[in-house]
Amino acid sequence: MKQFIVGPVEMYPSTKNVLEKGYTYFRTQEYGNMVKECLAKVAKMMGAENCTTIYLAASGTGAMDAVVDNCMGENDKALVINGGSFGHRFCELLKWYNIPYDSINLEWNEVIEAKDLEPYENKGYTALFVNLDETSSGKLYDIKLISDFCKRNNMYLIVDAISTFLADDYDMEKWGIDVTIISSQKGLCLSPGMSIVAFSKRMVDKINREGNPNSYYFDFKSYFKNIERGQTPFTTTVSIMYELKDMLELIEKAGGKDAWIKIVQDKANYFRKRATESGLTIPDYPKSYTVTPVVLEGVNANDVVKYLRENYEICVNPCGGELGNKMFRVAHIGNTTMSDIDDLLENLLLSINAIKVKQLQGVS
Ligand SMILES: *Cc1c(COP(=O)(O)O)cnc(C)c1O
Repeated sequence: MKQFIVGPVEMYPSTKNVLEKGYTYFRTQEYGNMVKECLAKVAKMMGAENCTTIYLAASGTGAMDAVVDNCMGENDKALVINGGSFGHRFCELLKWYNIPYDSINLEWNEVIEAKDLEPYENKGYTALFVNLDETSSGKLYDIKLISDFCKRNNMYLIVDAISTFLADDYDMEKWGIDVTIISSQKGLCLSPGMSIVAFSKRMVDKINREGNPNSYYFDFKSYFKNIERGQTPFTTTVSIMYELKDMLELIEKAGGKDAWIKIVQDKANYFRKRATESGLTIPDYPKSYTVTPVVLEGVNANDVVKYLRENYEICVNPCGGELGNKMFRVAHIGNTTMSDIDDLLENLLLSINAIKVKQLQGVS
């Protein structure tokens, strides 16, 4: 099966079965040092060199949950940019923890603009939550616009960068971001189950001062203390940490972060160009390079996704809900090549035609 899904993506050969080379008990200084080295490298790639970076045994949503639980308290009032299923998830989490919030609700193809933020100026919000790449439709929000708004209003800026990291530019400190969440199975191309979260100094101070999470397992105060030695409060994702170590070497060998991002962007640009030449429709809102949405007319996109998987062993991402009938998504992260993209396009067009023929036969 060839995977063009957002995650878990196709891993690189050297990261698979990495534990076969052996591993160290995690409560050792040797393991702790490896963790510190790996997290420092990831932090550097996020522009978070002066931040505190921890890792959690949880998929991305677990990290989003723990961030809401630890970073927000009864004196906070949050604003969520809700432009799809991941924005909606932040709303659900804030509701779950009884944190007052409002959301700016956007259609699947709408990005945030200055006029959308205007009504929320000087209204006493303390934090803004955004999924920088709203993966459900692949749109990339304008981080400078959002960052300036937060600075003007003295708000914490909390960013789910899970699907934008290592596909688009990202610079936590330059953009004044207070929390960055990423997870293993997306751009980092590792097994699912590990998240990395970076915090600005002022957010670390806030959590140490007033953090009062409901969760026992995810009490960040304890993670901050432990990470000084590269440790975690509980048994952790040892295998994924070894995968990360291997992946960071791979990225370095490829020329570093920028070179790695260029590989992803080249694949996205190649797919987008060829898809458009083949007559496929790609929505023109600003997009992350992680994933390309494709809109179909005259055929049901869910049928195409299923046909492609069952007949050609190629997996692309369906869209959720109503949107799934007309749109699907192709991811550009993971171990795929230009020739895989050629195969995908060829078989995609065959699938669309096959379904059109079936529909015509059904009619006659
Ligand atoms: C993948 C993803 C997540 C995390 O989802 P999990 O299934 O919990 O790993 C969160 N936010 C965005 C924007 C994502 O793309």
